[in-house]
Amino acid sequence: MYKKVSHIGVAVKDLEKAKEVFGTLGLEVEGEEVVEDQKVKVAFIPVGETRIELLEATSSDSPVARFIEKRGEGVHHLALGVDNVEAMLEELKAKGVRLVDEKPRRGAHNTLIAFLHPKSTGGLLLELCQE
Ligand code: ZN
Repeated sequence: MYKKVSHIGVAVKDLEKAKEVFGTLGLEVEGEEVVEDQKVKVAFIPVGETRIELLEATSSDSPVARFIEKRGEGVHHLALGVDNVEAMLEELKAKGVRLVDEKPRRGAHNTLIAFLHPKSTGGLLLELCQE
């Protein structure tokens, strides 16, 4: 079951600069951490129940680096909060939805996450996120 929009991932070239920009807008950056698995440095900005997730690539072969190369900085993915990522993946797979991740993996802030393939979501990169 989908619970809420967990966060909106935004690809940035320079995390420090992005933090300044959002700070000027009156938003406060919460935590910062490196997610080795995805080769990104992440900073979260809480906005009500949802968060903005700033993503900076930690290496040139990071998916975020490739995204910026192709499409520039901006909205990278939308994350929907779910109760159980694994069950959701099975359910969607049974419906013929293409998955990027067949199994959940570790995301920032001790979450379990999995990405769906944009070919099955109208071009949007959708992340399932279990807190
Ligand atoms: Zn995310």
